[in-house]
Amino acid sequence: MPGGDLAVLQRHFGAWHPGLHRVLDRAAEGGGAGISRNDLYDLAEPLPSYVSGRVALIGDAAHAMTPDLGRGACEALIDAVTLAGELTARARVEDALAAYDTARRRPTQRLARAARLMNRAVHTRRPLAPVRNAAMRLFLTVGRTTGVTHGRAQAPCPGCRGPAVVSAVPSLADLDVDRRVLVD
Ligand SMILES: Cc1cc2nc3c(=O)[nH]c(=O)nc-3n(C[C@H](O)[C@H](O)[C@H](O)COP(=O)(O)OP(=O)(O)OC[C@H]3O[C@@H](n4cnc5c(N)ncnc54)[C@H](O)[C@@H]3O)c2cc1C
Repeated sequence: MPGGDLAVLQRHFGAWHPGLHRVLDRAAEGGGAGISRNDLYDLAEPLPSYVSGRVALIGDAAHAMTPDLGRGACEALIDAVTLAGELTARARVEDALAAYDTARRRPTQRLARAARLMNRAVHTRRPLAPVRNAAMRLFLTVGRTTGVTHGRAQAPCPGCRGPAVVSAVPSLADLDVDRRVLVD
């Protein structure tokens, strides 16, 4: 129902920035036919294992999460690199898959939980929205001064006023894996 979706968008965003009006006007020219609407799903029940026999799940198949932290694809890549590394390092496939499961299940399920929490917080409506907004402002202010939201980096971040953001998960460069596996 593209026309109906356009009406919903106009209702929600009609009072926003003029640039957004132009986008909505262009969408209206085609009767809203270009609007794509998809429902969002996450994996409600965390899996007890990402491995069964000689089969391993990676990416969304293992830990589909809401997109509120922008991490699903990043985690899928880290899954792939970790799995490739374990398969390269160990003689038995079963041992490699078990090591992959141990390395990746807990951190990705923690992120999926955090993403869902963020999703609930972001979509909180009145009357709780002002409370949410105040809590987020406080969190960001306190986080910035304590380094919780902006981790304390060893090296100064050029162009940043505070310390650089440090990710809680390893970057690809930190993973002890021959990165050629990504392109081979
Ligand atoms: C709105 C939105 C915004 C997002 N933003 C970010 C972001 O900013 N950063 C980030 O890191 N992640 C983001 N994500 C998450 C990211 O898109 C996913 O986590 C990522 O695409 C998962 O990759 P995947 O390969 O595991 O699964 P998919 O991308 O779903 O790939 C699975 C593929 O398998 C195919 N397939 C399924 N069944 C079969 C079959 N039987 N036979 C053959 N092929 C099949 C599907 O067609 C699909 O192409 C976002 C997601 C959404 C919805």
